[in-house]
Amino acid sequence: MADSTNRSDKLARRGLMFILSSPSGAGKTTISRMLLDADDEIKLSVSVTTRPPRPGEKDGVHYYFVDDAEFDRMVEEDDFYEWAPVFGHRYGTPKGRIRNALKEGQDFLFDIDWQGTQQLYQKDQQDVVRVFILPPSIAELERRLRGRGTDTDEVIAARMERARAEISHWDAYDYVVINEDVDSCFAKVREILDAERTKRQRQTGLIPFVRELMA
Ligand code: 5GP
Repeated sequence: MADSTNRSDKLARRGLMFILSSPSGAGKTTISRMLLDADDEIKLSVSVTTRPPRPGEKDGVHYYFVDDAEFDRMVEEDDFYEWAPVFGHRYGTPKGRIRNALKEGQDFLFDIDWQGTQQLYQKDQQDVVRVFILPPSIAELERRLRGRGTDTDEVIAARMERARAEISHWDAYDYVVINEDVDSCFAKVREILDAERTKRQRQTGLIPFVRELMA
């Protein structure tokens, strides 16, 4: 039996599906890591992908790396909340424990693209919060992409093209944050998360407590 006078915020509401999207190079990965480090109440939803691991990436931590046949099997068995092709590989959000954990008040961070965001939103408008991170300018985005390493001009041009395409979906998000400076961008993302956690509609678990206050 839940004791309404001794409940934590975690028990008082459903978990959030907190989505961060951005064109690559806008800083989404850094912001995601900062959020996961700073906030114990949110966990990363680890996606499944057919793309090979990059150096340093660990199976089960950054992604679950699978081959095409395994991905096909998961699609057939309806194991995904959503999945989408991105840059020639497939990426998907496994249902796994997410559905039940949300009910128990666990928040999840989704680092997914606009296609996945759209699919998750169609399935679960109540729990989804959509945040889009923009670069301060196209020139700065290009500078950041070039700064990453040894990509050829052609590869950079293709990435810039994809970045523009991703940005064109910004109007399908609830919040938009410009990443001029990583610390202030992070601070804004945290404020959004805090505010969303506090929304009255989410805190249905508080009803008995408020009834007590009113009695
Ligand atoms: P990367 O290969 O650089 O890790 O990710 C490429 C793109 O795929 C990023 O925009 C990332 O947000 C997106 N992505 C990662 N996981 C998922 C997923 O589960 N679903 C969808 N729709 N996109 C994903």
